[in-house]
Amino acid sequence: MQVGIVGLGAMGKHMSANLLKNGYTLHVYDVVPEAIEEIVRLGGLRCSSPKEIAQKADIVITMLPNAQIVESVMTGDNGLLAGGREGQIFIDMSSVAPHSTKKMAGLADKKGIKYMDAPVSGGVTGAEAGTLTIMVGGDEEIFKKVKPILESLGKNIRLIGEVGSGDAVKIVNNLLLGSSMAALAEALVLGLKAGLKPETMYEVIKSSSGRSYALEAKVPDFIFKGEFKKGFPIDLQYKDLELAVETAKNLGVPLPMTNNAQQIYELARVKGLGREDISAVIKVWEDMLGVQVRG
Ligand code: NAD
Repeated sequence: MQVGIVGLGAMGKHMSANLLKNGYTLHVYDVVPEAIEEIVRLGGLRCSSPKEIAQKADIVITMLPNAQIVESVMTGDNGLLAGGREGQIFIDMSSVAPHSTKKMAGLADKKGIKYMDAPVSGGVTGAEAGTLTIMVGGDEEIFKKVKPILESLGKNIRLIGEVGSGDAVKIVNNLLLGSSMAALAEALVLGLKAGLKPETMYEVIKSSSGRSYALEAKVPDFIFKGEFKKGFPIDLQYKDLELAVETAKNLGVPLPMTNNAQQIYELARVKGLGREDISAVIKVWEDMLGVQVRG
């Protein structure tokens, strides 16, 4: 089976490597030539545009920064739809808003192309290890067809419902991650100022009702070590909170906590921390109060 992928960044390059390891013929494209080169060295086949990918592959994956880029890759003169044909399947694994996915699915449908959303959780580590959680929106019949491909990329793969529902659950998940990380950062700084040792707070909260994924994944490995370079970037978390806020506005749902959390990430971006892991939001308070929560 001929598979194509557009977007060979932090996530897409590892996903490409796993597809190649699992024996798929893989056509690849990215706007950055070095990113293509890296996958060609592993056995990927170079394409010069998304259009060429769609001309060559039966199933096309997109793993792109945001909905605006997904839409331009789909609809541009050299885009996927320009090269697409009836019977193909497009799977967008980027984190985008459900309304954008539904719009793209409608355009694909006009050409007889099936469109699915399949955003992921698990970060770069999960992409590399092939252990991503994959949340799929689309037809059950098409889901069964693409499942073996998704199994090369992830472990917990689930059909959520109709097109756009994978994006919706991803937004809900990342709203929780972003909000709990922001709350954790301010809580740890408060504890420190109240005279608590960072390790004591971590040990007690780990087995108490305030525990969270953010506490377990981000405190010992990032905050205590003061190492914020790897992980899930603040810029992407900010984008995911924006997706939640935008979706909530469309649906008339108030999100006061999420809006506040997004402002914390905005402050971090203003401080130049956009490329650092989300746990670096703690530096907003640390710098303001002249303290550091380190192990
Ligand atoms: P990234 O910025 O590292 O990679 C995106 C790639 O897309 C880059 O290589 C870029 O050159 C390429 N690109 C940009 N515009 C393009 C265009 N017009 N045509 C072709 N290629 C283009 O981003 P990432 O970290 O790989 O994330 C990809 C998606 O996955 C995002 O939607 C993100 O929110 C989501 N995601 C990321 C993580 C993570 O930990 N990084 C985790 C879960 C989900």
